[in-house]
Amino acid sequence: MFDVLIAGAGPAGLTMANLLGQAGVRVLLIERDPGLSEIPKALLIDDEFFRLLATLGLSAPVSAHGVYPISFDYYSPMGWRVGHVEPSITEHHYSRRTATFQPEFEAILLAGGERFPTFEARFRHELVDFEQDADGVVATLATPEGEARVRARYLIGADGSHSLVRKKLGIPFDEVRKFGDRHIVVDVLEDPDTSPVAVTKLGWSRNYVSLPSPNGGRRYEVSLHEHETDDAALLEDAALARMLAPICDDIRTRRVIRKAIYTFHSRIARRLSAGRVHLVGDAAHVMPIFGSQGMNSGARDVKNLGWKLAEVVHGRALPSLLDSYHEERFEHLVETIKIATANGKLQSARMLPVTMARDLFLGAASLIPAFSRWIRDMRYIPKPYLKSGIVLHDGRPDPKSLVGRVLPNPAVVSDGGAEMLLDDLLGPGFALVGLDVAEAPAGALRHPFLDPARISRVALRPEGAPAPRAAEGVVTAALADHRLSEAIAFHAGKWLLVRPDRIVAAALAPADLAAGAGHLSRLLAGEASPEPASVAA
Ligand SMILES: Cc1cc2nc3c(=O)[nH]c(=O)nc-3n(C[C@H](O)[C@H](O)[C@H](O)COP(=O)(O)OP(=O)(O)OC[C@H]3O[C@@H](n4cnc5c(N)ncnc54)[C@H](O)[C@@H]3O)c2cc1C
Repeated sequence: MFDVLIAGAGPAGLTMANLLGQAGVRVLLIERDPGLSEIPKALLIDDEFFRLLATLGLSAPVSAHGVYPISFDYYSPMGWRVGHVEPSITEHHYSRRTATFQPEFEAILLAGGERFPTFEARFRHELVDFEQDADGVVATLATPEGEARVRARYLIGADGSHSLVRKKLGIPFDEVRKFGDRHIVVDVLEDPDTSPVAVTKLGWSRNYVSLPSPNGGRRYEVSLHEHETDDAALLEDAALARMLAPICDDIRTRRVIRKAIYTFHSRIARRLSAGRVHLVGDAAHVMPIFGSQGMNSGARDVKNLGWKLAEVVHGRALPSLLDSYHEERFEHLVETIKIATANGKLQSARMLPVTMARDLFLGAASLIPAFSRWIRDMRYIPKPYLKSGIVLHDGRPDPKSLVGRVLPNPAVVSDGGAEMLLDDLLGPGFALVGLDVAEAPAGALRHPFLDPARISRVALRPEGAPAPRAAEGVVTAALADHRLSEAIAFHAGKWLLVRPDRIVAAALAPADLAAGAGHLSRLLAGEASPEPASVAA
């Protein structure tokens, strides 16, 4: 019996396989096709996904084939620039935008999974049915050798937007916003345009996009009108060349590797889990490409669910922990879908007064530094924030508090003098991070949940501050950049309990540390509510 059966070897299923493989979970990944997809869809990996890839030990191969930096310029139909997005390095330490070639990216993920002895992949294996009982899931697979049955404790539906898993569970795929824009997408290799800048021309009638991609390639896109439904005619060479002329002088002279028409919807599965079955990636949600959050949201699903599955499979948490997956992800997904759709609607506005108002507003607002930074840094894309779930809030949400948010990933210098990223110091599991603490509370550190075999323990201090009194099993280090400075000022003297997905579960004064650790371990065991009675954040 496998611990986890993953249906679908797209980016979501492959990333989940890596995360579970790294955690020593026995995983079977099945894919109905003979190999990985040869069709490039997602182009842009965001900073959070890249950080996850780094913790999976995959940042080097992805960097080697990816394109970075990429900035984005948006032009109005009148030709003036109405928006600019920078490829800035974020609090996660990676760029918001790294371009990838999905087939190569998926191959890197598959090779990543194959590093782990508990991982197995089977192609030409299609999930056709499944049943669940008290102990697990029995899946029926169509294979080249005929029908086969596989038993696993959990099933992950990573089988894309037409998910059989979601349909078999009878989970509705609700429309979050009405959207149905269609785009032609053309991928080209060795394009003469080698600019690292992505350009979007918002037209009176259509929008045009030109984006750099790996291998000296480029992606060209053009939006379609509702009445343009003859896909074969639209993709015919001469028609395509005419259509793309405002963004590409003659597409017929390019080495086109793929042309396709996509319809973008805004949908979410009403439940992300049902019993022992969980949905991730496009099986759980689809959204328009504006903001490039489709695959990246799937990576967040994996990050949220993966560590919980590992904890449960290894017997360190009760299965009820998995209920928090829906609770923690659903709202953020809906927000992300709404923003992606609003962005799409804004870009595809066609009525003259609306486009004029949009472009005049954006043009004028971009002169305001705060607004232009908001656009440049893509701050309109919602960051994950857990109001409930496996987090200990003290009832006073504060925008400066890290509780419920992702811990930044600053550069640090260990007391041995080695410079590294905080993530590398913490490793992949739970972490206890002291922020500018005077000393480590030896009594609290004896709590079983804080056992160094289970949790890495680090005391961080601002650059130049004196090192805290050393305690056994606590590594001390100094910050080497500003990514945690604000949080250190806000949480000074506190200990952060950090989950394996780098969400800060609690910020605790030394006197509350043992109680907070106890509360968190009871939450993992499904024995407590997230409202701690006596823990101050
Ligand atoms: C043109 C375009 C551009 C995009 N750009 C971006 C971008 O820049 N950034 C971004 O974040 N997102 C982007 N997206 C979205 C992104 O491509 C998807 O969100 C992502 O591919 C979803 O990954 P997935 O693994 O969930 O599903 P998929 O990639 O659809 O993979 C599902 C896999 O499951 C397999 N499968 C299906 N049914 C079964 C079954 N019954 N048994 C076994 N296997 C099965 C399929 O063969 C497939 O391999 C873009 C999408 C498009 C169309």
